[in-house]
Amino acid sequence: MKKVLVLEDEASIRGFIVINLRRAGYDVIEAESGEEALERLRENPDARVALLDIMLPGIDGYDVCREIRKTSSVPIIMLSAKGEVFDKVLGLELGADDYIMKPFDSKEMVARVKAVLRRYQPAKPVPEQPSIKLVEYPGLIVNLSNYSVEYNGRVLDMPPKELELLYFLASSPNQVFTREQLLDNIWGYEYIGDTRTVDVHVKRLREKIKDTEQWGIATVWGIGYK
Ligand code: CA
Repeated sequence: MKKVLVLEDEASIRGFIVINLRRAGYDVIEAESGEEALERLRENPDARVALLDIMLPGIDGYDVCREIRKTSSVPIIMLSAKGEVFDKVLGLELGADDYIMKPFDSKEMVARVKAVLRRYQPAKPVPEQPSIKLVEYPGLIVNLSNYSVEYNGRVLDMPPKELELLYFLASSPNQVFTREQLLDNIWGYEYIGDTRTVDVHVKRLREKIKDTEQWGIATVWGIGYK
């Protein structure tokens, strides 16, 4: 539920505002004085809107607005009574977002609250794009993010190490790697095995994907593979 702070010293008006906002589905926090309103806001930093009466016994609504703006960007709607000279410009300069003249219709008041909430919808955090590790060649897509290989439009069954080896070679085209380098990079330094492991995996890869004119796995005699 969205929290709304209501600052109004007159109990009957406050009650009217509170009941209507609660009916509209808001979680209402009440305050009778400016000091209390600031206190309530400190306790409720998740408040989404503040309705501030201007004429109050202690510090007035303008001061409350000024104080709130020192630390918060919560939307503020000023409540001004008929007959009071409401300084609209001052209110806006202090950082108020809207104002309502009393007496007001309950529907209008709720509509204003909804309107500022819409306008000040906190920006939704953009979900971070996971970096997709994918190499693409004509007829071949090697995706290390979901461990899939697509070859000529068909998904191939490929054990993880074969896929990692293919991805490693494919992501550094024309670079020659020694068997030791491949072993270290794909299997890790702790791997106790010999460089023939690399040859076996390359052989299996070659059985599954055939070289084309544009790409292929090449043996560089005496060095390794590219
Ligand atoms: Ca008042």
